[in-house]
Amino acid sequence: MDVESTVAMLGAAGFGLAFGSFLNVCILRLPHERSLLKPPSSCPSCGHVIGWRDNVPVLSWLLLRGRCRWCQAAISAQYPLIEALVAVLWVAAALYYGLTLQALTAALFATILLGIAVTDARHYIIPDEFTFGGLAIGLLLSLRGGVPGFVDALLGAAVGFGLLYAVAIVGKWLFKEEAMGGGDIKMMAMVGAFVGWKGVLLTIFLGALLGTVVFVPLTLKKKRLVPFGVFLAVGAAVTFLAQDAILSWYQRFLSIG
Ligand SMILES: [Zn+2]
Repeated sequence: MDVESTVAMLGAAGFGLAFGSFLNVCILRLPHERSLLKPPSSCPSCGHVIGWRDNVPVLSWLLLRGRCRWCQAAISAQYPLIEALVAVLWVAAALYYGLTLQALTAALFATILLGIAVTDARHYIIPDEFTFGGLAIGLLLSLRGGVPGFVDALLGAAVGFGLLYAVAIVGKWLFKEEAMGGGDIKMMAMVGAFVGWKGVLLTIFLGALLGTVVFVPLTLKKKRLVPFGVFLAVGAAVTFLAQDAILSWYQRFLSIG
């Protein structure tokens, strides 16, 4: 790798670490409707404010051996793991798409999907900041010639929202209980802005398929809520990466059959 691309990859890793660090704050605070800006991060055990040198992504956690500097309480490994994972996603996007708007789109989309998957799995909550914030980012990027064009992004958002809204209403009428959370509906509007209307259909199909294969065996043993957003997030990531390949395979499949 030449110097220029090495610097570019280091830059992508740096942005990824910073966004990963911010995502940790989002994951920690948004489900409890706490502000992202204040107060500054503090140790949940002793309340000591965490200084900048103990707040460096991944590195601080390693240097402190996963313990608070002041009270020695354990700090969850989730923090450095999320930071490292987001950095890997950003570098992967830069490697795959080059230093393009598409790489930025992919990296931001992956970061938002990861945030949704974690909050939905842990709290059964998909914060509006991820869905409405992501919707705005997706539409903005599509204006600048992102992955789907602006019209397709707008259509995707409308189809994603409308389709899951319809599923929610029919589900409620059929089962007399909440079948689809409001967070899932808003999430699919966001996803549509990134993958267009065909991508929305593929995402819902993949999400439902995954949810059925993975979750039905689990729910048979123990009745619990389905964090459907997790499966939609995986479906959306696969769709973003492989939408064209999957749809053309499907068309060939149909023309043979
Ligand atoms: Zn402490």
